[in-house]
Amino acid sequence: MAWDFETDSEFQGDLDWALEFVKNEVEPLDLVLDDPYDKANETAMAIVRPLQQQVKDRRLWACHLGAELGGPGYGQLKLALLNEILGRSRWAPTVFGCQAPDSGNAEILAHYGTAEQKERFLRPLLKGDISTCYSMTEPHAGADPALFTTSAVREGGDWVINGSKWFSSNASVSSLFIVMAVTDAEAGPYRGMSMFLVPAGTPGLEIVRDVHVGSLGHHSTHGYLRYSDVRVPADHLLGEEGGAFAVAQTRLGGGRMHHAMRTLAQVKQAFDMMCERAVSRQTRAGTLASFQMTRERIADSWIEMEQFRLLVLRTAWLLDKHRDYRLVRKDIAAVKVAMPKVFHDVTQRALHLHGALGVSDEMPLTGMLIDAEVMALVDGPTEVHKETLAKDILAGYLPAAGEFPTAHLPGRRMAARQRYAELLEHAIGNDDPSPAAMVATEGR
Ligand SMILES: Cc1cc2nc3c(=O)[nH]c(=O)nc-3n(C[C@H](O)[C@H](O)[C@H](O)COP(=O)(O)OP(=O)(O)OC[C@H]3O[C@@H](n4cnc5c(N)ncnc54)[C@H](O)[C@@H]3O)c2cc1C
Repeated sequence: MAWDFETDSEFQGDLDWALEFVKNEVEPLDLVLDDPYDKANETAMAIVRPLQQQVKDRRLWACHLGAELGGPGYGQLKLALLNEILGRSRWAPTVFGCQAPDSGNAEILAHYGTAEQKERFLRPLLKGDISTCYSMTEPHAGADPALFTTSAVREGGDWVINGSKWFSSNASVSSLFIVMAVTDAEAGPYRGMSMFLVPAGTPGLEIVRDVHVGSLGHHSTHGYLRYSDVRVPADHLLGEEGGAFAVAQTRLGGGRMHHAMRTLAQVKQAFDMMCERAVSRQTRAGTLASFQMTRERIADSWIEMEQFRLLVLRTAWLLDKHRDYRLVRKDIAAVKVAMPKVFHDVTQRALHLHGALGVSDEMPLTGMLIDAEVMALVDGPTEVHKETLAKDILAGYLPAAGEFPTAHLPGRRMAARQRYAELLEHAIGNDDPSPAAMVATEGR
């Protein structure tokens, strides 16, 4: 019997340490330091490096990676349990060496990179010395890669990239850009796009402007980029020519799960804020907690949060079991769809119970509400993942064999009566087991 909802005591010790460490040492950084991806910020790095060393000493650095890449190789389930702590703080993933999008970029460099590419780009990335940018979405096309137009053309020993990209996170502080470009327009999106490694500073790579999410407390920047005759040597192709779609899928499957794991932490924080407010705020009739509608909000939130947590942990467990994102695609799509909804719903209830304070810039709740909406967009919008989920589910079904559904009661009852005809004859004496009589007795 393998079902188990307990963490082994040794790893639980690590989780207990991580929770105290994040609460006491890392969360305060969110209030005084700016962009975690800006490695050129000497002041921030002077504070963060010793904290990163403590994480390394504890063997919790880069927990998304296998041992061959310098991580502990804990797998997705343990990573989920750790990430639901790290999601409490904007800086925690950087302190623990598993921040997106670098984590996904490291994964594809490890998976598809040549020895030279790994040495030049993956090694400093894993050490936490550089930030990297994943440059896929275009201003006119995000959810559907088939509409991308940024192109790369082979010229002698080089590839020449032209086009625009949009919402390329951390572009302004990144040392490496992983760029998806059309290399064969005739071959379609699955075989006609390739992935390129473009070092920062390559001539022709221009940050038109940095875009921010919302207006409150969001420190990350998202680049609107123009690639004008950006020239990289042929060995800067990542993976095989025409293989970008497969590379992207490798990256996005893990990325979606890691977002969900961290979101668990934020949902829990919103929930804790709601409960504290409920037992603190006085009205003439008592605290907010004394109202049935408040208690209903708290009960609904707890149930939705626990359902989501179990879905995330079960999907992480499936990933460890199959070690192949493609086999868990349906479950990851379900997680991706559930994530923004539970995050939004619990945060909205918490915000509402805080009244004016909830919508003010003196609480983190408005920022969290926007973050919930971000989770409904990044790595593909909710609708696309619902399609994936439903298609996958429906692939397991066949049309009904006859005129009526398989569950149609008259047909099932007739089959059952025929099967037990002999026994029923003794039990109900004169009953007529013919089809006509069956239909006549439908609904009894
Ligand atoms: C904070 C943040 C960080 C990001 N970071 C990066 C990054 O680092 N690199 C990168 O490349 N991209 C990044 N993105 C972009 C992100 O991947 C896209 O926003 C996402 O894929 C959606 O594309 P879009 O914004 O162009 O929306 P659109 O494609 O215009 O879609 C808008 C809406 O249209 C509807 N819709 C679209 N397609 C369908 C469909 N097939 N079926 C039904 N409804 C549909 C949905 O309601 C959807 O929300 C980031 C986005 C955000 C918000």
